[in-house]
Amino acid sequence: MIHVEGLTKYYGSHAAIRDLAFRIGRGEVIGFLGLNGAGKTTTLKILGCVLLPTSGRAIIDGYDVVSHPHEVRQRIGFLPDTPPLYDEMGVGEFLAFVARLRGVGSRDVFARVAEAEEKTGLCDVDDAPISSLSHGYRQRVGVAQALVHRPALLILDEPGSGLDPRQMVEMRALIRGLRGEHTVLVSSHLLSEISQTCDRLLVIKEGELVAQGTEEELSQRLGGGGFIEVEVRGERERVLAVLAGVGPVRVTGEAEGVVTLRVDAPVDLRPRVAQVVVSAGLELLRLDRGVEKLESLFLRLTHGGEGRAP
Ligand code: ATP
Repeated sequence: MIHVEGLTKYYGSHAAIRDLAFRIGRGEVIGFLGLNGAGKTTTLKILGCVLLPTSGRAIIDGYDVVSHPHEVRQRIGFLPDTPPLYDEMGVGEFLAFVARLRGVGSRDVFARVAEAEEKTGLCDVDDAPISSLSHGYRQRVGVAQALVHRPALLILDEPGSGLDPRQMVEMRALIRGLRGEHTVLVSSHLLSEISQTCDRLLVIKEGELVAQGTEEELSQRLGGGGFIEVEVRGERERVLAVLAGVGPVRVTGEAEGVVTLRVDAPVDLRPRVAQVVVSAGLELLRLDRGVEKLESLFLRLTHGGEGRAP
């Protein structure tokens, strides 16, 4: 769906992105991860035909963004970092306006707006003026305008920006719900925000791609990864024997018949840990995933000297 080669953009003498190369398959949900200023917005704007690259190529569904922007625009839906909303319009009215702009025939507009509102949880605010919406709802309208013409590819630039934790959970669920119908490229500066939503991650640092792969692949490559902390009531040797099959495990504490252990787990193995403990007849008291380790992996990728992506 996306094929990028040698993509470079200079602002004056400053290279915002340099020699980016990646491919994204049809139907994939991809996280584009980087600290502020890493070059995410610049890349997404080029893919969205909003900005011309200085050099290199970006092909979307077989069409070059520079030589065939019209064909590319018909195939994509773009949520920029600041959603393009008209405050004085109602939600449904705005989505119908956007649908017409994107070439949806008059007979289909009503159904497409209803479909977009359904997917983004906006049915209850169809009549509400956009100016009256909370930030979370405005972001949803931003996503709805991006998908109202049923594009094959959705490009979402930091859809989680400024959302509170509850709105963030809703946004993640919304993006997961798009899987299957669209290829999705979603940017963020927080790994935790997109790691559970995306099939694969592209990590960008100072304009260069420094890593790409699944969360598990990135963890293994850096020789680290997640871990699971587990508290079990039982005899130390027995608990260790039960958990040994799940992954490398060590005891980190023991008191009053309760053993605390850490299991190295680059991916989320909590269901497996729970299953083996309970089926061994042991009492499971606590089960936590060490997600801060994932953030520290991301920081190592984006701050440390990891070099270029293979
Ligand atoms: P953020 O999350 O803060 O938006 P980003 O990863 O999206 O960051 P970009 O906005 O693509 O990063 O910016 C990449 C680099 O290019 C930054 O150093 C930024 O200052 C610079 N830059 C972006 N837009 C322009 C512009 N119009 N003129 C000059 N420099 C720019």
